Amino acid sequence: GTMSTEEQPYIVGIDTSYAPFEFQQGGEYTGIDIELINAIAELQGFEIELSPMNFDEIIPALEAGDLDIAIAGMSITEERQEVVEFSEPYFDAGLALAVAVDNADIDSVEDLEEKIVGVKNGTTGSKFLHDNSEEFGYRISSFDESPTMFAEMENGHLDAIVEDYPVVAYAMSTKDLEIKIVEERLTDEQYGIAVLKDENEELLEQINAGLQELRDSGQYEEILNKYYIP
Ligand code: GLN
Repeated sequence: GTMSTEEQPYIVGIDTSYAPFEFQQGGEYTGIDIELINAIAELQGFEIELSPMNFDEIIPALEAGDLDIAIAGMSITEERQEVVEFSEPYFDAGLALAVAVDNADIDSVEDLEEKIVGVKNGTTGSKFLHDNSEEFGYRISSFDESPTMFAEMENGHLDAIVEDYPVVAYAMSTKDLEIKIVEERLTDEQYGIAVLKDENEELLEQINAGLQELRDSGQYEEILNKYYIP
């Protein structure tokens, strides 16, 4: 456990691009995760500095001591809890299966035999696809960043993608993506803010206290409402 100071802020790992949770607008990062962690830091009196990276680099960076905190639309999983400790859940999510709007062949994972399915490295979606590939017989195409994957889907290079529901739904509503969701919830997941296990009790308590304050004051709901997810 270290303290943050103005010279030595807590370094916060975020995904490079994961709207509506973290994305750039006019050269600045914004989104639900960014607003939450800024508000928590302000309430709890610590300084932060954002460090964007590919999602699959975040937990290794926490382990290496390069990050103090991670907020990245990261789902709370038992596997990750071996290494990190999560805050109280702050968002309900889960995996969706999406295809091109004009795709009439794929209605569910049952229809994925011989198909190419895109997913982001290091995610619960990637684990889901690897765990079930034998049963459903698809091929997996892996990406470092979600926007690249969405583009490949629109270009027709992927038959389907597995991505968190709120992220696909938000992209569809804001970007006119020519894709549709065929399964909304392959899994139920909850996002948490992560710190390295066993070393950061005090910081985790501050994060949880900040989250609770945001919920009690209504600021949490205000932040969420700014990024309407259909
Ligand atoms: N929620 C998913 C996970 O935790 C995806 C996160 C992401 O792509 N930023 O694996």
